[in-house]
Amino acid sequence: MSESKTKSNTFRQIKKRTPSNRLASYYTKRNTKKPVCGVCGSILQGMKHKSQDKLDKLSKTQRRPERAFGGVLCSNCSRARIKAMARSLK
Ligand SMILES: [Zn+2]
Repeated sequence: MSESKTKSNTFRQIKKRTPSNRLASYYTKRNTKKPVCGVCGSILQGMKHKSQDKLDKLSKTQRRPERAFGGVLCSNCSRARIKAMARSLK
């Protein structure tokens, strides 16, 4: 279990009545948030949606798309950013 001040970020406490009418509490892990684009906030495609310890076990190609700004910006925003960078070089 994590440090007590950050415990509620990772674990959700569930209180439930047992058949013998005893109040039992147990902890379940919260779901991680889906990766989102840094500009428009849309959900990124081609990325696994898992906790960091599970992501570390995956291959690098399963963690982010292999293009410029892959894993940071969505395809539309990265296309616009690359075009803006190319135009500013002139
Ligand atoms: Zn975007």
